[in-house]
Amino acid sequence: MTDRTAELAENLARVEARIAAACAAAGRAREEVTLIVVTKTYPASDVRILHGLGVRHVAENRDQDAAPKAAACADLDLTWHFRASCRPTRSGPWPVMPMWCSPSTARSSFSALSAAAERKGAALGCLIQVALDAEAGERGDRGGVAPDGIEELAAAVDAAPGLRLDGLMTVAPLAGPYAGEPRAAFDRLMDLSTALRATRPAANMVSAGMSGDLEEAVAAGATHVRVGTAVLGVRPKLG
Ligand SMILES: *Cc1c(COP(=O)(O)O)cnc(C)c1O
Repeated sequence: MTDRTAELAENLARVEARIAAACAAAGRAREEVTLIVVTKTYPASDVRILHGLGVRHVAENRDQDAAPKAAACADLDLTWHFRASCRPTRSGPWPVMPMWCSPSTARSSFSALSAAAERKGAALGCLIQVALDAEAGERGDRGGVAPDGIEELAAAVDAAPGLRLDGLMTVAPLAGPYAGEPRAAFDRLMDLSTALRATRPAANMVSAGMSGDLEEAVAAGATHVRVGTAVLGVRPKLG
C-alpha cells in the first residue's frame, strides 16, 4: 500500500465512522446516506485509489479540471457529479448539478445538457442548487437559486427532453440568517424538498453537508453528503 493509499484509507474510514455515527444518532439506516467524494484539485490517481477503497460517487466543480480526470478514469465504475450553470430562461444562469454527463457538457448550456442526455439515450439526473442566503429572485454568493426560484427551474427541467429532476442540493451559507447555522439551513432545505416532492415525488435526493457539517446534514435528513477536505486533505487555493 502506498503512503497516499494508506492516508486516503484512513481519512475515508474516519469520514465513514462520522456518517455512521450521525445516522445512528438520527435513527437512520446507514444506507440512507450516500457519500460523494469531492475530488476537485486532486489528481486522477487519487480518484483511482478512492475507487479501490470502495468509493463509487465522485464530484467535480470545474470542467477544465474534470475532463481529463474523468477520461483517465473512464474504465472505473463511478458516478460523476458535476456542477453546471444552465440557462433555461433568459434570467439565468441557474445552477443545476447534473450526474454522469460529460464534463464538457456540464460547462455548456441547459439545452446542450438536454441534447447530450438524448444522445446517450438515458435521462440525466439533475439537482437544483438552492441558495439559502439569496433574496427572492436572486442568486446566492455560493451559487444556487433563491427558494422562490426552485419552481421555475424545476418546470424547466421537467420540460427539457432527457433531463430528470432528482432533487435539491445546497451549500451552508456563509452570510444571511443561516450563517453559522448549518442545521437550520439544512432543515430549511428539507422543507423545500418536502414541498417539491408534493408535485414531484421522485425528486427525493437531498444533497447537503460537507467536511465541516456532514453531521448536521445527516441529522436534517440529507440523502447525500459531499465531502472533499476530510477525505483528500486541505485543497491548495483555487486559482
Ligand atoms: C468543494 C465542495 C464540497 C466539499 O467541501 P469540503 O469542505 O472540502 O468537504 C462540497 N460541495 C461543493 C459544491 C463543493 O464545491
